[in-house]
Amino acid sequence: MDKKQIVVLGGGYAGVHAAKTLHKAFKKHQDKVEITLIDKNRHHILMTELHEVAGNRVEEDSVKISFDRIFSGKMVNVVQDTIVDIDFKNQRLKGERASYAYDQLIIGTGATTADFNIPGVKEHAFYLWSLDDALRIRCHIEQIVKEASREADAGKRKQMLTFVVAGGGFTGIELVGELIEWLPILCEENGIDFKKEGRLISVEALGSILNMLPEKPRAKAVKYLEKKGVEIKLNSLITQVDADGFTTKNGEVIKTKTLVWTCGVRGTEFCEKLPLT
Ligand SMILES: Cc1cc2nc3c(=O)[nH]c(=O)nc-3n(C[C@H](O)[C@H](O)[C@H](O)COP(=O)(O)OP(=O)(O)OC[C@H]3O[C@@H](n4cnc5c(N)ncnc54)[C@H](O)[C@@H]3O)c2cc1C
Repeated sequence: MDKKQIVVLGGGYAGVHAAKTLHKAFKKHQDKVEITLIDKNRHHILMTELHEVAGNRVEEDSVKISFDRIFSGKMVNVVQDTIVDIDFKNQRLKGERASYAYDQLIIGTGATTADFNIPGVKEHAFYLWSLDDALRIRCHIEQIVKEASREADAGKRKQMLTFVVAGGGFTGIELVGELIEWLPILCEENGIDFKKEGRLISVEALGSILNMLPEKPRAKAVKYLEKKGVEIKLNSLITQVDADGFTTKNGEVIKTKTLVWTCGVRGTEFCEKLPLT
């Protein structure tokens, strides 16, 4: 009898959890069931730690765990491939390297950053939703601080030393937390007093940050951020972004070379084009 093929597409938190659960459920039926996890990468990425990479607290290797290690000794085959399409009728996944038959399919391909079609976000803001994004932010901040240290024009220097995180949810505020610690150190290494010259700004469209938290811990977080010199701009929906900064709906213009966009996520283009609805 052919084994039933269960395929888990995506090795993020959802996919890894699903594959481990399936292993537990079917480990005594290995003659009847085969489990395969397909991901475009060889590693599971600890997405919830990415702000620590962006803020130079940890090296990139500390957020990468190889699938071989995760599934060592388990009945889960790991395949590295990027799936480009799914033929639901014939139950086949089409990858860049091969195609894969399945009897049961679990899709866990994650989400992508939402820019809400606000002009300039895609072109000029940094996202924080992948390891590459986190490394890009870290590299940019190191570079811009170095450039600021050589900049004689006061206006340009101020712009270079203004760091903005848009979005007051967990991702944004966790990144702000990292920058509170890293920016003064990095600036000092480059001969700059961040307290005197730098700005760290959290911009939020709604009337408060960390809206998912109850009032008490939220107030505590705000108090901490303000004590550390973070400027919190509430009710400040960003309406337009360009290479020199951004404008809010209140008409405020902030000049910066570093705007990190953590304002929400949506389904991936891959999932959007699947005939699932
Ligand atoms: C800085 C930061 C902090 C966060 N903090 C928290 C937190 O404290 N608490 C919380 O609950 N959430 C937090 N999140 C959100 C959380 O990380 C995500 O909700 C979670 O990663 C989603 O898991 P997932 O498995 O659905 O998708 P992902 O983790 O995005 O995994 C998707 C996987 O699918 C693979 N894949 C995608 N498309 C394909 C394809 N076509 N072919 C092959 N493989 C593909 C990808 O390579 C990836 O491995 C945070 C996110 C960030 C960025």
